[in-house]
Amino acid sequence: MVKNLILRAGRLISIPAHFTAEFLFPSSCPLCGARVSTDGELCADCWVGFNWIGNPKCSVCGYPFPANLDLGTHPICPHCYQMPSRLKWIRCACVYDDVSRSAMLPFKHGGRIQYARFMSRAIMWAMRDIPEYPDLVMPVPLAWRRLFHRGYNQATLLARPIARALGVRMDLTSVRRRYRPDMGHKTASQRSENIRGVFSVVAPDKIRGRSILLIDDVMTTGATLNELARVLKRAGARAVYGATFCRVVHAI
Ligand SMILES: [Zn+2]
Ligand SMILES: [Zn+2]
Repeated sequence: MVKNLILRAGRLISIPAHFTAEFLFPSSCPLCGARVSTDGELCADCWVGFNWIGNPKCSVCGYPFPANLDLGTHPICPHCYQMPSRLKWIRCACVYDDVSRSAMLPFKHGGRIQYARFMSRAIMWAMRDIPEYPDLVMPVPLAWRRLFHRGYNQATLLARPIARALGVRMDLTSVRRRYRPDMGHKTASQRSENIRGVFSVVAPDKIRGRSILLIDDVMTTGATLNELARVLKRAGARAVYGATFCRVVHAI
């Protein structure tokens, strides 16, 4: 708002607007405050601290393999062999570790919503090999009680710029999530047991026949994405894809 006024004032008095705005509000790295060329972007020092997921990785779920392995063009991880996911494809920008956790916690619980910019860009970078343009982008819904306490759904903040960049609609209303307390479950089977039945499709006509890209901040075991994909497919979704900012990488 203030920046817009400065830009307009700059134009009125014939000073290059970007110069006045840059002078008074220099772009800074959202994590450390260092000067950067584009507002909202990470500086080089912060960027290299993240463990970005490159190749080789599972061609289905994006699980990162050790860099020195040559596994061909479409490697598949043991999880995807043993228990095929309900999602056709999942990509995550980075590994959940101390660095990504120190950005994720203030983003999720501390109101640092400005992080959404670099996080959503990182997700888009990670999903550059998406097999098709989805019909809908859907942030993983929050239960009303959590939304009320937190004031925002961090997944929606990440999904909005992605939907805009892809030029597709964002769906915030077709699925409802019931509140269920987090019981601190650790294993994949405990987590999928606890999440089962929390999502319900309230507008199946908007889901039927559609391909849907789910967006979330973090993937822990994949139980949440898998359960949401299960109810979407039962409601007639044609294909479900998923992308998150970071993921917990369990040894396999
Ligand atoms: Zn920085
Ligand atoms: Zn996999």
